[in-house]
Amino acid sequence: MSWLNEFDDRLAALDAQALRRRRRAVVPEQGARLNVDGESLLAFCSNDYLGLAQDPLLRQAVHAAVDRYGVGSGASPMVSGHSVANAALERELAEAVGLPRALYFYAGYATNASIVPALVGEGDALFSDALNHACLIDGARLSKATVHRYPHGNLARLDALLTASPARRKLVISDAVFSMDGDVADITGLHALCERHDALLLLDDAHGFGVLGPQGRGALAAAGLTGPGASPRVLYMATLGKALGVAGAFVAGPESLVEWLLQKTRSYTYATAAPALLAEAVRAGLRCVLGAEGERRRQHLAALIEQLREGLAPGADAAVDAAGWTLMPSDTAIQPLVIGDNEAALAVMATLREQGIWVPAIRPPTVPVGTARLRIALSAAHQSADVAALVGVLRAAAAGLGQHRVAAAALEA
Ligand SMILES: *Cc1c(COP(=O)(O)O)cnc(C)c1O
Repeated sequence: MSWLNEFDDRLAALDAQALRRRRRAVVPEQGARLNVDGESLLAFCSNDYLGLAQDPLLRQAVHAAVDRYGVGSGASPMVSGHSVANAALERELAEAVGLPRALYFYAGYATNASIVPALVGEGDALFSDALNHACLIDGARLSKATVHRYPHGNLARLDALLTASPARRKLVISDAVFSMDGDVADITGLHALCERHDALLLLDDAHGFGVLGPQGRGALAAAGLTGPGASPRVLYMATLGKALGVAGAFVAGPESLVEWLLQKTRSYTYATAAPALLAEAVRAGLRCVLGAEGERRRQHLAALIEQLREGLAPGADAAVDAAGWTLMPSDTAIQPLVIGDNEAALAVMATLREQGIWVPAIRPPTVPVGTARLRIALSAAHQSADVAALVGVLRAAAAGLGQHRVAAAALEA
């Protein structure tokens, strides 16, 4: 039998483990609501942390850009795809993050998967946090460098691995905000280790740029390693499809390192440039992020995070505690509620869905086995009443589980 006939069985195996993923076609509504198959759902799914994806100022920027530049970029940035809009965005991004130079990419995945192999190769050494995003892991694999994985956030272990490595070129790669846990890397500690071992640090701040640091300038700025304090051994990468509300990514850092990436990154050279209309949307988003409106939205988001944590943190609700659900320690907009079992996580997601609330269940292999979770993502587009509704429905679901357990125990007795 041809192996091509095995895919149905392999899909059935995914079903058996509750691991088959399904998409939903959505239409955005007011605030953080999404329309799914005619049903209006209050969504806690989006990485649009500042609510910019639907913002009128960004829409206007896109309309004007379409009139001026048309739709597509037509070619790689190395040929004729590098619009004056893209060039202006690169200067503004570098200025925003306080680093000498930035390079603008059409997507974050392609950036990391491709800049890592441009920096290190066979015979070099890579040091990677165990919870890094898939695109950093794929970049590490593509590079053919020797990969040393260290336990999440364990800098003592990283120090030991760096000490033991005979490689001359060492690259440490880490998410700045971990995408499924919401915690922030110890950037100062990572940087100090890189100094001690003559290593380069690549930080992926997909979830921090726009929300963390002064004026939302990101996690590296929050750590004081930008501007006058910019380090020659840090490359900063961030995406533009999350807090910036659009799509794309950039990498920023020392002039010669960024110039090297421009020369050697295959996903940059061999891909059609991001259209100017997206660059103009990001420029409008960036003006908002750095201005008073950005500050107002970050403050609103911080208040929502606090409200959710007060409602669900350990000790806040007996039924949630009894269910064994734990809200992970996170100060960011990513607030994961660990349920544990894959099917249990899907069941809680379904219960919320019946109440008109959409929170995605995240299962392995995206997260470690046994830590299936609801990844609650908050946004400045949410209202306080939205968070109250979510907390209320989750508490009721946990209480329902408790009654179920009491009934089952009574039956057994
Ligand atoms: C979303 C994400 C990416 C990928 O960026 P895209 O622009 O969506 O391709 C990279 N790294 C991290 C940590 C992310 O969360």
